[in-house]
Amino acid sequence: KLIVENLTKNFSSTQAVSEVSVSIGDGELLCLLGPSGCGKSTVLRMIAGFETPTSGRIVIDGEDVAHLTPDKRPTGMVFQSHALWSHMTVFQNIAFGLKLRGFAREAVRGKVSEVLELVGLAGYERRYPGQLSGGQQQRVAIARCVVLTPKILLMDEPFSALDAHLRVRLREEVRGIQQRLGLTTLFVTHDQEEALTLADRIVVMKSGRVEQIGSPSAIYAQPVTRFVAEFIGTMN
Ligand code: ATP
Ligand code: MG
Repeated sequence: KLIVENLTKNFSSTQAVSEVSVSIGDGELLCLLGPSGCGKSTVLRMIAGFETPTSGRIVIDGEDVAHLTPDKRPTGMVFQSHALWSHMTVFQNIAFGLKLRGFAREAVRGKVSEVLELVGLAGYERRYPGQLSGGQQQRVAIARCVVLTPKILLMDEPFSALDAHLRVRLREEVRGIQQRLGLTTLFVTHDQEEALTLADRIVVMKSGRVEQIGSPSAIYAQPVTRFVAEFIGTMN
């Protein structure tokens, strides 16, 4: 379970995130939705430990993670552009983190093939990222993250660089994997349709603040502000 309390981030004169509070239950997929610049990535980066909050708390399974560096946090992050290591094979990309954690060679092999199976890329171990399609690369990025069994999966617009058709397919795949593994997930998107189809609950953000939190149907049917209504598109 992830609890974010009054999370705030100032960059000199910019208040990027203001007093954001939200909690995510175990196995829940929460979408952070809002227009460009509203602070979505900054929230994710603070949870992952890449940015230090100006104020507020982040608690994961009862532990305040303020003192934990990114590599010690029980979080895994998938970025917009896959960020695979291009000079390493698919196997090496996925095995890297496992080796750092001291898994033996046999265990690494087993885990890598298991997770490749999970993302539909069994047998791709020896390929290099440059020999994969964009969608396949993003699947590897997801596999690399999931294999380390994070308590919280963080995804920052993971499909926005892909074409519309592939986006819909990967969305469904990720939902399937997330549910099968019961992964607690925070998924950032500026795409209303993506949030509405994917999320258990949606947090709509505007200018660094939470505008509304609710189920997709509640957000869609009962927007609490004009901004939410317009952003979700019911007033179009
Ligand atoms: P997008 O949908 O475009 O990715 P976002 O919702 O993820 O947008 P953030 O990247 O969190 O938005 O940025 C929120 C605000 O904080 C923006 O005004 C941005 O310019 C500012 N900001 C983000 N990172 C920094 C930084 N390192 N230094 C200064 N300002 C920053
Ligand atoms: Mg962003």
